Amino acid sequence: QSPEKQQKAIDLSHHLSDVALARQTSPLKGLARFFGRPGMISLAGGMPSPDYFPFANISGDALVPESFAITANQSESSLSWLWKLFGGSGRKEKTSTITIPKYADRPEDINLATALQYGMATGLPALSKFINEFVGKTYKPAFSDWTTLIQTGNTDGWSRVILTLSNPGETYIVEDWTYPSAMAVTQPYGITPVGVPMDGQGLRSDELRKLLGEWDEAARGAKRPHVLYTVPVGQNPTGLTTSVSRKKEIYDICVEYDVIIVEDDPYYFLQLAPYSAKFDRASSRVDPTESDKWLSGLSPSYLKFDYQGRVIRLDTFSKTIAPGSRLGFFTCNPRFAERFERAGETSTQAPCGFGQSLIGQLLTTWQFDGYVRWLHGLAAQYEARRDFLIDALAEEFNLKQSLGTTGAWAGLTVLSASAKPRGLAAMSEKFAFGQQPYFSLVPPTAGMFLWLKIHFENVRGFKEGDEASLEIKLWTKLAEAGVLVGPGYYFGTEESARDSAAEGHFRMSFSLATDQELKKAVEILGEVVRDFFQNPE
Ligand code: PMP
Ligand code: PLP
Repeated sequence: QSPEKQQKAIDLSHHLSDVALARQTSPLKGLARFFGRPGMISLAGGMPSPDYFPFANISGDALVPESFAITANQSESSLSWLWKLFGGSGRKEKTSTITIPKYADRPEDINLATALQYGMATGLPALSKFINEFVGKTYKPAFSDWTTLIQTGNTDGWSRVILTLSNPGETYIVEDWTYPSAMAVTQPYGITPVGVPMDGQGLRSDELRKLLGEWDEAARGAKRPHVLYTVPVGQNPTGLTTSVSRKKEIYDICVEYDVIIVEDDPYYFLQLAPYSAKFDRASSRVDPTESDKWLSGLSPSYLKFDYQGRVIRLDTFSKTIAPGSRLGFFTCNPRFAERFERAGETSTQAPCGFGQSLIGQLLTTWQFDGYVRWLHGLAAQYEARRDFLIDALAEEFNLKQSLGTTGAWAGLTVLSASAKPRGLAAMSEKFAFGQQPYFSLVPPTAGMFLWLKIHFENVRGFKEGDEASLEIKLWTKLAEAGVLVGPGYYFGTEESARDSAAEGHFRMSFSLATDQELKKAVEILGEVVRDFFQNPE
């Protein structure tokens, strides 16, 4: 819908928790409207003079947006005319200097006198303006009065969201394997996750409808959940991405049952082309698209379908700039944003001024197109890393190339969607490794994780129900041999744990280790796994 025809968000204030409704406007807010008025002599705040801030200015050498190649052909060396040898990393890097003065010539420019001073929980105006424009151009929300608000990363974002929407004793919906820290946020408040299964297309809409439609308040001891927490792209831990048609179905179900969708989406810009086998790649891999086309080709956010304002999107700079920046933002309806701002005023206040000013200056220097080019380069890096790790696994477990069949491996077992009825076992396009497979996985099309389903039923002497203990045993053996992976049970909900056939997973990330380390890790995995399936004791 064109922006002129869009409707404002509907009134969703009945979702607010008791705590959210009880929050008062900060007592200092009344003063704020007078701050910055020309000629005003302020004796009101406990603000130190900027003269006492021990930084006269801050400057840094920032990488240029083109630092990482976006196509397989455009090797990094073809860009190396740009670069000088940088630091101790041995990588050639081209940099440009950004500087933040203590006092700016124009007050709207980022300056330390403002950034390091007390300020509003809404953060630096120049940074929030960049964020707001970025959201409008990138996600194109379908309601008119959407707004953005800075936070200190999605952990903070989610924590504010759940306390704003839920009272103790309530439940909320999650994918039935999910990010453990998200559950850890709500656990001490007695706010409990309820898992819904996924398949190769992400969260299952039929299962979501069933859960909501058949919810029995008396049996469950809680009213029907009114919040869905979802990681739709490169899901943590499964690496799965919810398809566009699923998103539409899920959105419509959430309208029907009046559910707020919380979209925690750190991996949105790490969307990757589908995996194809190494021998088949050269033809499919070359991607000459411009960065703006790349951006508009990404799978849309839930915001794109959100004509009612019931989506709260959480973005973070953790995976696109650096986790230590502790910076991110909400996109949501103005009523919710106002309550999140109040919650911020009494906890984090504005995010750290050093981080805000450095990232604000970086982004306003790069500008929209530069940042998009940076993100595109990152996606290409992660794609190469994913391919490298899956290639190495294929080699270690002797998946032979089969010429002519696009993306397939000879001797590969593709588990059919109907073989197992439930959860991750029901995914199609699963690659199995080993003759009687040791494990299988769905090559992710986003993010930084492989999710290995370990086929413990093929372990010598296996008895039903052994999965959980075998998972810990194998995990320990791997760790002792020098490879640390995420054990599946970390990510489980009550629902996934209840079905022992759904158990037995490892999460492997390809985001950090070097190619050499990944290769070594795969060799160790191969040795340990082969041995373990013969001698599980
Ligand atoms: N406690 C007291 C007693 C204060 O005077 C102030 C600042 N005026 C604060 C807390 C706020 O501290 P901070 O800036 O570390 O959040
Ligand atoms: N949400 C998900 C799904 C994540 O995978 C992560 C990081 O691993 C986070 C949130 C943490 O984000 P932040 O660093 O922005 O707090």
